[in-house]
Amino acid sequence: MTPREAIKQITTRLLPVSNEAETEARIMLGEATGLDRARIFLSEKELDADALSAVEEMIKRRLSGEPLQYILGRWSFMGLEFNVSPAALIPRQDTETLCEEALSLIKERGYKTLLDICTGTGCVAVSLNKLSGIRTEASDISPACVRLARENALKNDAEVTVREADLFFGASRYDIVTANPPYINDEDMAHLPEEVKREPALALAGGRDGLDLYRRIAADAAEHILPGGALVMEVGMGEADAVRALFPGRETRTVKDLNGIERVVSIGF
Ligand code: GLN
Repeated sequence: MTPREAIKQITTRLLPVSNEAETEARIMLGEATGLDRARIFLSEKELDADALSAVEEMIKRRLSGEPLQYILGRWSFMGLEFNVSPAALIPRQDTETLCEEALSLIKERGYKTLLDICTGTGCVAVSLNKLSGIRTEASDISPACVRLARENALKNDAEVTVREADLFFGASRYDIVTANPPYINDEDMAHLPEEVKREPALALAGGRDGLDLYRRIAADAAEHILPGGALVMEVGMGEADAVRALFPGRETRTVKDLNGIERVVSIGF
C-alpha cells in the first residue's frame, strides 16, 4: 500500500470520530513513517510492516475516543512543541489569543515579571518566556502538571520556575498574571464531546456557573499584581461579561478569538 492509498483508508476509518479525518490520517502516517506530513502524498514507496502496525495501533486508540494529541504525546502551540499527557488540558488554538494579548501588553508596557496560574502543560508560561524574555513563574495544583510544565520548559529551553500551588502563593507581586482556568459549567460538563472527556475534569470544571475559579482569582489578584499591572484570563463562550463584572471599577478589555467569540478578558491594576 502506498501512503496515498493508506491516507484514503485511514481517513474513511476515522470519519466516525473526527471532523478532520484526513488531517489526522496524514499526521498519523507521518508519525508512523517519519515522512514529512505535507509531502507524504508524493511518496510512491510501499509502506513497510512496521509503519502499518504503528499506524494500526494509533487508529485503534483514536477510534476508542482518545484524542490524537494524547496518542502522539506532543502538540504544537505558538509555534513551539509541547509534551502533552492526560494529566493536563491539550494546548488549544483559542489559547493563543490569550498569549497574543499578554505578549502585546508585555511589549507595550515593558513588563518584567509574569506569573501563569493553572499552567497545565506550561504552554502559556513557556511561550511567553520564549517570545518576550520576561521573568516567568508558573503554578498548578496538580503535581503531574508541575512535572509536565517543567519538562516543557526544559524541552523548549525556557526559564520558568514552576511551583505546586492552588493559584497564587507566597507574597510576591507580578507585573502580569495570566490564567486559563477551568471554566466549563456543570450543565456543559455533563455533555462533553467524547474526546474532551479524556481530558482531566480538574482542568475543565468551573462549578455550577463555570465561574468558581474567576471568583477566587478576583478575590486575591490585587494582592499579587503590581500597580499598573494586568491580569489576562481566557474565558468560556458567553462568560466575558460575568467575568468583567467580578472586577468592578477596574479598566477592562475583551479580545475575540479567531471564531469571533469573546475569549480573553484583561483587567488593569
Ligand atoms: N477550551 C476548553 C474546552 O472548551 C476548556 C478549557 C478550560 O476550561 N479552561 O474544551
